[in-house]
Amino acid sequence: HSYIVIGAGILGASTAYHLAKSGARVTLIDREEPGQATDAAAGIVCPWLSQRRNKKWYRLAKGGARYYPELIDKLKEDGETETGYEKVGAISLHTDEDKLEKMEQRAYKRREDAPEIGTITRLSPEETRALFPPLSSEYGSVHVSGGARVNGKAIRQALIRAAEKNGAVFYRSHASLIHEDSRVIGAETEERRLLADKVIVTAGAWGGELFRPLGLSLDITSQRAQIAHVEIPGEDTSAWPVVMPPTPQYMLAFENGRIVVGATHDDGVGFDHRVTAGGLHEIFDKALKIAPGLADSTMLEAKAGFRPFTPGFLPVFGEVPGWEGVLIANGLGASGLTVGPYLGAELARMVLGEKTELDPADYDVSEAII
Ligand code: FAD
Repeated sequence: HSYIVIGAGILGASTAYHLAKSGARVTLIDREEPGQATDAAAGIVCPWLSQRRNKKWYRLAKGGARYYPELIDKLKEDGETETGYEKVGAISLHTDEDKLEKMEQRAYKRREDAPEIGTITRLSPEETRALFPPLSSEYGSVHVSGGARVNGKAIRQALIRAAEKNGAVFYRSHASLIHEDSRVIGAETEERRLLADKVIVTAGAWGGELFRPLGLSLDITSQRAQIAHVEIPGEDTSAWPVVMPPTPQYMLAFENGRIVVGATHDDGVGFDHRVTAGGLHEIFDKALKIAPGLADSTMLEAKAGFRPFTPGFLPVFGEVPGWEGVLIANGLGASGLTVGPYLGAELARMVLGEKTELDPADYDVSEAII
């Protein structure tokens, strides 16, 4: 069987990798759209402390976090070690002891069916700061050893290279769908017309546009996220934990003193993929209150990407109702680095006619069709 995957963010790259690994013929196409979410994202994988109550979302996010170590091992077998993934642990901050108490209880409760959370430890402000020295001194925290960070760009590239090693072909091009009546039969790139048994569309924030020629209107929206990278010269930051402050912000460390702080939630900007003065102001205004020690760090770079959303902030995946030969997965929103690799594996299983771990009815594509 032959398959085409349109869109090689983390979701499409993972789908292509898992399909290729199973021996299928796979073509992956991506037009390298500026503002691709995956390229801009870095990267907390720590869904368990979230206060979001949606069970379907949590099941998906939990599965995503659990799957990472297995995926990293598979990629290693394919010779890919540069993924930016590291289980460095995570600290969730608060100044209020009651809130920390509740957070700790939530962590223990969630560990009952998610042992991958690892060790849960309540830390004093001094202990918290010892783990992430730039932090302000008033924050206590709950530390979970299973929290991880990942570099979106690095894991995406590792997945694409590993897919190619398993026989997949990757084209850098815009793609559109080719259809006959109510059946999608392939995709057209700038240079080629490709036929396939099935086409899988994992096109993120731009997913809706591919279906317009089919007369389908998809409810996919997007939100710009800006994020900044700074460096603390001469500091070994490689083992510093991910930091989750009480605000919807975060910071995390990579090797060589690199600290990533983000991200903004910019609505109503369309596909304007600029990094703005206001965006950076907001990021640093919030970040320096939490971690004043970053004031003297070196500014390295800033990025912007579009979080793709489907209705209810719940991802969808599966066949497009009323059509043959075409599947969609989309709506990874703010947690797509966590969810993407796992959902790609699930999507590959679905395409290959194997049983999925998740119930696809919970993530029904018709929810995203207007
Ligand atoms: P994308 O990565 O956007 O990929 C879609 C791809 O489709 C693009 O490469 C585009 O070029 C291609 N495409 C579209 N249309 C076509 C076409 N017609 N032809 C060819 N190619 C096409 N998640 C977490 O879990 N933890 C985090 O800490 C985190 N932080 C983030 C920080 C930022 C700044 C951002 C922007 C996101 C963050 N996320 C995080 C969310 C996560 O990055 C996204 O949910 C995820 O990357 C979405 O992946 P995707 O593959 O669906 O979309």
